[in-house]
Amino acid sequence: MALEAPPASSPAVHNVMVANRSANTKPEILVRRMLRQAGLPGYRLHWRIDDPVGRYVCRPDIAYPGRKVAIFVHGCFWHRCPECDLALPKSNAEYWSEKFERNVERDREKAGALLDLGWDVHTVWECGIDTGAASAANAVFRALIQPTGTPKEG
Ligand SMILES: [Zn+2]
Repeated sequence: MALEAPPASSPAVHNVMVANRSANTKPEILVRRMLRQAGLPGYRLHWRIDDPVGRYVCRPDIAYPGRKVAIFVHGCFWHRCPECDLALPKSNAEYWSEKFERNVERDREKAGALLDLGWDVHTVWECGIDTGAASAANAVFRALIQPTGTPKEG
């Protein structure tokens, strides 16, 4: 047989890793821990945000719905960190470049839509977790001590 099944315990481990990769990446876990340590535990993970007419906008990695602070935790490779500017994979360069462009575009659209809805949007890059999480934590603090904006018109 050309295709031999892997050992029984391995696929399960593999599945867990694949399932966790997008939702519980290590940078995200670090940022959450920093927020908790900063005394800001009330975040929601992948909280669904709709626009005023009920259309789905996005689910930020971390959100404080009451304070309207959204935090995206981005891996430098997949989200194309401008600081790291990591090289594209050598094979299938066109495929990857298109895929990455879509990622970046989607990130931009989400952030823009949230800003339009009056959210404070923060991106924490994998390579700058400490400063990124600190500035996001500051934003949550500010939202805590300031009254949430004036009621929307219409
Ligand atoms: Zn980076």
